[in-house]
Amino acid sequence: MTDSRALPDLTSFEAVLFDLDGVLTPTAEVHMRAWKEMFDELFAAWGIEPPYTDRDYFEHVDGKKRYDGVASLLRSRDVEVPWGDPSDDPALDTVCGVGNRKNAVFSRILRAEGIAPYPGSVALLDVLQAAGTPIAVVSSSKNAVEVLEAAGIRERFPVVMDGVIAERDHLASKPAPDVFAEAARMLGVDPARSAAVEDATSGVASASAAGFGLVVGVDRGAGADHLRAAGADVVVDDLQAFVD
Ligand SMILES: [Mg+2]
Repeated sequence: MTDSRALPDLTSFEAVLFDLDGVLTPTAEVHMRAWKEMFDELFAAWGIEPPYTDRDYFEHVDGKKRYDGVASLLRSRDVEVPWGDPSDDPALDTVCGVGNRKNAVFSRILRAEGIAPYPGSVALLDVLQAAGTPIAVVSSSKNAVEVLEAAGIRERFPVVMDGVIAERDHLASKPAPDVFAEAARMLGVDPARSAAVEDATSGVASASAAGFGLVVGVDRGAGADHLRAAGADVVVDDLQAFVD
């Protein structure tokens, strides 16, 4: 565990850039629920057996791109449908259509229930805001703005580099440095004098490759050793460690 007395003062950096899912919000839980709701309904409608379980999530869906997860899960039940196109209507029985159906369920859950950000993360955002330290979000998700709004913290971030911008500008995904480098440019700060906060090894590697002066790993399950090996300078269990 990290000795918090040894932690650097994040207000001494030119800016602090945060990953979203797993760093600011426990988004994975909502994704898991949305997959289950969507597949339960689909399996019932198509008469697919055996029923969808959490184990399916970890074996076929977790960590994959949305459409790859759908294809893998359906293949496990010997179900084949055409791939389709990302622009497919959620009602279409294609891999992309089914993936878009999951996204619609995800949005509905977010709108209906909101999502509580990690209290330790909000406490750190408060400290940075009080000190006038610029902050930004750097997320691979195309739902980033939606999640930030549901969490009630959208207005805190002048810059949100998300999957929509990355696709529009053809930026390579994490672990490539592109998204962190571009977010620093949008914020008008020097990565070498800024800090980045990530919970995934690919994100840590991205910030590290972009030359950030400090890369903080938040261990929500990736493992402190893996985060350090990917380039994290310090690893904490929760961002509250920087506030205490
Ligand atoms: Mg993350």
